[in-house]
Amino acid sequence: MAGHDRMFKVLVVGDAAVGKTSLVQRYSQDSFSKHYKSTVGGQERFTSMTRLYYREASACVIMFDVTNATTFSNSQRWKQDLDSKLTLPNGEPVPCLLLANKCDLTPWAVTRDQIDRFSKENGFTGWTETSVKENKNINEAMRVLVEKMMMNSGDGLGTLPSQGDYINLQPGPTPGWTCC
Ligand code: GDP
Ligand code: MG
Repeated sequence: MAGHDRMFKVLVVGDAAVGKTSLVQRYSQDSFSKHYKSTVGGQERFTSMTRLYYREASACVIMFDVTNATTFSNSQRWKQDLDSKLTLPNGEPVPCLLLANKCDLTPWAVTRDQIDRFSKENGFTGWTETSVKENKNINEAMRVLVEKMMMNSGDGLGTLPSQGDYINLQPGPTPGWTCC
């Protein structure tokens, strides 16, 4: 059966230095560098994006740094900004994953319980811990998002979380396994 290509616009937002550029590099080229020039200039701050940037996106990734509590709390502002400016054609919010990045580092500034509650309260599709550096959960998380987008575009079906739940990406017989 002949396949066909689909193109989706996926936004990646979050505070400076949480790993957004690294995520895109990792996912598109499977590479990682410690030396990306900061896109914004180094501040940890929230900046509202223009409607034009959000336009016609099919999904969103909001990323924070698990070692930096400010980037975590700012995720709420990123989510609110997104929801105020973008909905699917049917009026639903776009699928949005919360990625708790840099899970290879310790100590974490937030607990898994806090993240879980936050994810549910703020209407995320789901959340998981990632390490772009160690290529942990990146492809898996993006696959969840792609499946969700396909579902929204009427191409597929499945049972995916949409209540902010933790997304357990571990295959095999080790339920409850957590990163690091
Ligand atoms: P952006 O400003 O959100 O685009 O962040 P960058 O992608 O430029 O990353 C900021 C810094 O964090 C860089 O030095 C990256 O190498 C580093 N970084 C990104 N992801 C990870 C990760 O998963 N673990 C660790 N330890 N460092 C990371
Ligand atoms: Mg960047």
